[in-house]
Amino acid sequence: MPLAIGGLSDCGCGASLERMDSEIAPSPSRLDHLRGALRLCRDGLRQAAKLALDIALPTLCVSCREPVDGEGVCAACWAKLSFIAPPYCPKLGIPFVYDPGPDMLSMEAIADPPAYARARAAVRYDEVARTLVHALKYQDRTDLAPIMGRWMARAGRELLESADMLIPVPLHWRRAWHRRYNQSGALARVIGEQSGVKLRGDLLARVRATEQQVGLSRAQRASNVQGAFAVSRERWGDVAGRRAVLVDDVLTSGATLDACARALLRAKAAQVDVLVFARVVDTPKAPI
Ligand SMILES: [Zn+2]
Repeated sequence: MPLAIGGLSDCGCGASLERMDSEIAPSPSRLDHLRGALRLCRDGLRQAAKLALDIALPTLCVSCREPVDGEGVCAACWAKLSFIAPPYCPKLGIPFVYDPGPDMLSMEAIADPPAYARARAAVRYDEVARTLVHALKYQDRTDLAPIMGRWMARAGRELLESADMLIPVPLHWRRAWHRRYNQSGALARVIGEQSGVKLRGDLLARVRATEQQVGLSRAQRASNVQGAFAVSRERWGDVAGRRAVLVDDVLTSGATLDACARALLRAKAAQVDVLVFARVVDTPKAPI
């Protein structure tokens, strides 16, 4: 009777069995013993692998891969994140280099006013922030959503206090199918838990697939997403007269969020604000 002795020696537990001659037919009890040893060996390996994963995944910094005690990023990378705090433009949330006093807008807010009322971001979109966003978006690191969402809830406290609902920027169903989850939805869920604001991921739909915004100019980005979002007519009643906070991972030109805000305003939303994890800030801005 053939024996899977090779399998045993592979896992290192069958060393004492290596000398066994395969021509010697073992007794049934010996076979049972061998099967038991094999099973133990396999279970042991599986458990060891799981333990290794459990230890390795949550304890490596997502940015520098150094061991970390806690969630997401190590202390050194955390210190490199630029958290956005006042003073900033009350409309766009772009940080100012000095405090000009209340209600002073940034040049961008005056020159190119968005459809949304206010935008806030937890951090500037720099190197460490980009690593976090990419890990959440492309590497299935949904375990990062709680910490990123908590930072967002803190940055957007003012917006959340007056909000009726949170609306994640939707993916087109085809992209959602490939990516398996919507990173904006994962962040919005955490913000909802933190703030008590209701999550409504069912109101806004991406009705047209769009090209990736990466690499497009500001004007191209705007035309790429024009008419890409809509609230279906039967949902207008859920939107009308309500204050919505749109949630996304990154604000670059703001074109996607602007198109989403327009769709909600078309459905008669009372106000639309925007809360993102990171926003692009070219240089520190002086108010005008
Ligand atoms: Zn690190």
